[in-house]
Amino acid sequence: MKPRILIVEDEQALNLLLRYNLESEGFDVDVVERGDDAETRVRENTPDLVILDWMLPGVSGIEICRRLRARPETKQLPILMLTARGEEAERVRGLGTGADDYVVKPFSLPELLARVHALLRRSKPEQVMKVLKAGDIELDREKKRVHRAGRELHLGPTEFRLLEFLMVSPGRVFSREQLLDSVWGREAYIDERTVDVHVGRLRKALSRGREPDPIRTVRGAGYSFNERFAEAS
Ligand code: CA
Repeated sequence: MKPRILIVEDEQALNLLLRYNLESEGFDVDVVERGDDAETRVRENTPDLVILDWMLPGVSGIEICRRLRARPETKQLPILMLTARGEEAERVRGLGTGADDYVVKPFSLPELLARVHALLRRSKPEQVMKVLKAGDIELDREKKRVHRAGRELHLGPTEFRLLEFLMVSPGRVFSREQLLDSVWGREAYIDERTVDVHVGRLRKALSRGREPDPIRTVRGAGYSFNERFAEAS
């Protein structure tokens, strides 16, 4: 699963440069140019990291940062701030804007990429982990294999990706739409009920009707991986 990065920046030349380079690094990149669009986009599809410019039309980067920090869902979302040299950079450093890190324009691309990787490693070590483990379930991302209590499970490719996606963010609830976007891809024209069908298959393969079910259905919201499934039974 590619980590998603949202760029909030109104300079189009910089957007293009960042998008191109981040995509080459294997990220899924989304761009908005106005401050007031940033919040909406984050709500629609929460990224794994935001690159946020300070000076924006609509709402300033600092204000967006403050709002994201105020909401429980985005409190921990890594934010890398872009600032101009001089007073702005001083204020980002001095005032505790809530940004996790910042780079001063003009910045070197390798430096920015290094900061992005470092922030993601800090916030989501699961994204670089080769084997995901929860209770008696083990998912090997490279070998594409899943074991439960030592027994190998035979999952279809979609069920595998679905389980992988859910296990990367245990406890987090994903709507059917978010799952479609992330597991099937945004280009797929699939009914949201398809998600239920695949979750059903995944559950069947995981628990064979006897073992505790690690997937939680949240009414009116979606699904999540319950990392405490072993205790819940
Ligand atoms: Ca700007």
